[in-house]
Amino acid sequence: MTKKPVIGLLGGGQLGRMLCESAGPLGYQIAILDEENSPAKQANHNDLHVTGSFKDPAKIKLLASRSDVLTVEIEHVDTEVLEEIATVGVDVPDGQGGMTKKKVPVHPDWKTIRLIQDKYQQKEYLGQKGIPIAEQMAIADAGSDRKASLQDAANKYGFPYMLKGAKGSYDGRGNFKVRSAEDFETAVQQMGDQPLYAERWVPFEMELAVMVVRTEDDAGKLQKVMPYPAVETIHEDSVCTKVFFPPRNVSDDMQARAQKIACDVVSHLWGRGVFAVEMFLLKDGQVIVNEIAPRPHNSGHYTIEAVPQMSQYKAQLCAIMNGFPVDFEVVPRVPSALMVNILGGAKPTSHDDLTELSRKLTNRSMDVYLHDYGKESKPGRKIGHITAIGYSSISKLVEMAQPLIASADKIRA
Ligand code: ATP
Ligand code: MG
Ligand code: MG
Repeated sequence: MTKKPVIGLLGGGQLGRMLCESAGPLGYQIAILDEENSPAKQANHNDLHVTGSFKDPAKIKLLASRSDVLTVEIEHVDTEVLEEIATVGVDVPDGQGGMTKKKVPVHPDWKTIRLIQDKYQQKEYLGQKGIPIAEQMAIADAGSDRKASLQDAANKYGFPYMLKGAKGSYDGRGNFKVRSAEDFETAVQQMGDQPLYAERWVPFEMELAVMVVRTEDDAGKLQKVMPYPAVETIHEDSVCTKVFFPPRNVSDDMQARAQKIACDVVSHLWGRGVFAVEMFLLKDGQVIVNEIAPRPHNSGHYTIEAVPQMSQYKAQLCAIMNGFPVDFEVVPRVPSALMVNILGGAKPTSHDDLTELSRKLTNRSMDVYLHDYGKESKPGRKIGHITAIGYSSISKLVEMAQPLIASADKIRA
């Protein structure tokens, strides 16, 4: 067999694991930079992996030296070194006893990852491009009078408002809902020294998300932005717990508008790959963009079973390798799907009933699939998910899958 292309992946969590599961049938090898026995490494044994942190420049360079292209499953990586690898190159043996530089493309582009890493800058940029976003303001640096700055935000937006860490947050871990001036002290304590910004509270009816594939030719010219269907995402305490395809009681027009906005957003970024655009849908039909993820996303897990011809993981691989089928359009093979996250509970065994149930529920009108990430259970940690695909409407599917939903909710209670 000819040499298989090698994709270097920064991060070996569940997204990386599902990416690896898609890579085999495509004939791609994935070299992972993360700790030994990370979820992705468990599912993909080879001798190309690098052990260490995806924030360590030396390790990233070692990974690059073994790869044809680099990508990420997490945006909190060192973009300085990614820029160097893409523009200057990494040292590799020249075959004659010396060393030479090899440039390795990074997808999505390091510029995109850098922009998205800072949620405040990300949204400032989108705002400048005419994308609807929630009003936001930077909060004074740690060391200065943060409480005065929090009061300024209250004067502007009223209570409640959302205080957010600009960098490094995920699953709502950098969010703090400020309900009154009495919260300022706790907010300052809890948020620590990190850069912060405040956002107007958005009284949304529903949260929507759209995955978008972005392709570019080898010269870096945009080829296409192609949306997946809009989905409804449910967040509880800022962490995603469920996803519904299609969104419940949302008109086709509205879904198409969300897709259009998501495509607009992604057209303003750089590089190839899949992107998630998280949005708020307001009562009056307004759509506001919350944030972008430059990679496969929790809201797109359902595509593994609902769009098996081109799941978000396969799309990511095809796009970054510049092999995305030219005429492909997303047509889900089922009319409905539901994804339920398995979040760790108080005990390591808290989710046992839920996983057991998932094995029993498949029937003529619904297929149920369990994805176990091979992670140690901790309270609130995403350790797996369950997707149910339905052969009729989303409301019928939700009815049939009610035991799953109830069992997942029980873990959190
Ligand atoms: P992710 O895991 O999606 O990366 P994150 O830590 O980046 O999460 P956000 O997406 O900013 O956090 O917020 C998490 C959730 O908090 C949102 O999905 C939404 O439910 C709620 N939220 C965020 N911003 C606001 C806002 N301005 N008004 C109301 N609710 C909000
Ligand atoms: Mg985020
Ligand atoms: Mg989010």
